[in-house]
Amino acid sequence: MTLPLYVQGAWFTGALLFIFGLKGMSSPASARKGIVWAGYGMLIAIAGTFLVPGLKNIALMALALVIGGAAAWISGKRVKMTDMPQMVAIYNGMGGGAAAAIAAIEFAKADTHSAVVTTLAVLGALIGSVSFTGSCVAYAKLQGLLKKTYRLPAQNVVNVLLALTAIGLGGAMIVMAPAQPELILVFFAIALILGLIVTLPIGGADMPVVISLFNAFTGLAVGFEGYVLGNPALIIAGIVVGAAGTLLTQLMAKAMNRPISNILFTPMTGGGGAGEAIEGTMKELSAIDAAAMMRYASKVIIVPGYGMAVAHAQHKVWEMTSILEEAGVEVKFAIHPVAGRMPGHMNVLLAEAGVPYDKIFDLEEINGEFGQADVALIIGANDVVNPSARTDKSSPIYGMPILNADMAQNVIVIKRGKGTGYSGVENALFYTDNCRMLYGDAQPMAGHIIQHLKAMG
Ligand code: NDP
Repeated sequence: MTLPLYVQGAWFTGALLFIFGLKGMSSPASARKGIVWAGYGMLIAIAGTFLVPGLKNIALMALALVIGGAAAWISGKRVKMTDMPQMVAIYNGMGGGAAAAIAAIEFAKADTHSAVVTTLAVLGALIGSVSFTGSCVAYAKLQGLLKKTYRLPAQNVVNVLLALTAIGLGGAMIVMAPAQPELILVFFAIALILGLIVTLPIGGADMPVVISLFNAFTGLAVGFEGYVLGNPALIIAGIVVGAAGTLLTQLMAKAMNRPISNILFTPMTGGGGAGEAIEGTMKELSAIDAAAMMRYASKVIIVPGYGMAVAHAQHKVWEMTSILEEAGVEVKFAIHPVAGRMPGHMNVLLAEAGVPYDKIFDLEEINGEFGQADVALIIGANDVVNPSARTDKSSPIYGMPILNADMAQNVIVIKRGKGTGYSGVENALFYTDNCRMLYGDAQPMAGHIIQHLKAMG
């Protein structure tokens, strides 16, 4: 059926807005605008869909929109910044599940489709189902509902066997189209189990990469189902998400120095990982001494981490930076690609507090400068500055590039106590001679430092 120009126009406009929106999201300065554009794109694409001639089940579609829209609005308003990864995981899973559900409906009328369309529907169903259950497990792990990692004996063999069975059944569905309902059911059951089994053993610091990978999967599945439905907006949105997710996955895997195959097939379990025993003691410092060290320094590099996000300390940290700069101290921010709990987490928080972008530096840009810094101030970061990643082959984070904070003349660490980071590994940096611990919640502690700095004039 050739669709009227206004429907095609709406979908095309929606797709263009998705692309412009994504472009906007490539910089923190335009990210908010990018999200709004993509949102308008979605509205226009949905409006176009309602204008398709002869559309059935309009009331059901409207009801689904109201329920889904309300759930997304409420959860989006309520979610804490630090809970964003699990929110992304669950929404991503919904996308994969929706793509698989579209395929399930289309299999019922497979006799009206060409072999190419059925093949794409099968691929979308398989990838979408894996992404759905995999993302649900990722959500449960990040939300703390699932604290353990489960690994089967011969895990990789089971993964490969399940994947081959799902592919085989998918092939049979293409050849036999329309396939029997029992075959379709078994195919979906195996694809859904595959997503569970692949994700359950993954834990530790690998989770962000996995979420990003499932994001790419969902994009791909949606793109395939867009082809099945003949909907160019879905095809383009799917390709854009698939490509962006793939690039992000590669970037994050590179940032953690873990090939993607390694993450999926030899996952690190995290939570109390091994690593060599660390000698020495942690030495404490007072807020007034920390303030004096920074006030009389010429260069301070601040390393924010997850703890700064939990404590909502970014505004205080920026106020402290401004006071130091007024006193003639050069202050820079060093951001690790996986600091916090989502890609770009620290950049977003610092931008929200008003820190100018030219003070924020990526790992490659700033790592050479720690040697010239008088003070490296670590605020609620741990794994991203753990020097064991460089030297300790038995450490679960071995090989992950880290920020060279240990190379500064003095290191000050603000954290509440002796807690480990996300990967569960002890941090050798905290025991070194040039490192001092400033125990406390990041926000009040930054407040104390500000008071002392003000008193120093
Ligand atoms: P970490 O999780 O390694 O460490 C955070 C530290 O902050 C803890 O040691 C904790 O110590 C401290 N902390 C917690 N709450 C507070 C508070 N209120 N005030 C002060 N300190 C606090 O954080 P990093 O940012 O260094 O590393 C991120 C880790 O998360 C990496 O392992 C990364 O792989 C992983 N990850 C990253 C994602 C991403 O996309 N960026 C997503 C998911 C995981 P204490 O309890 O003693 O206060």
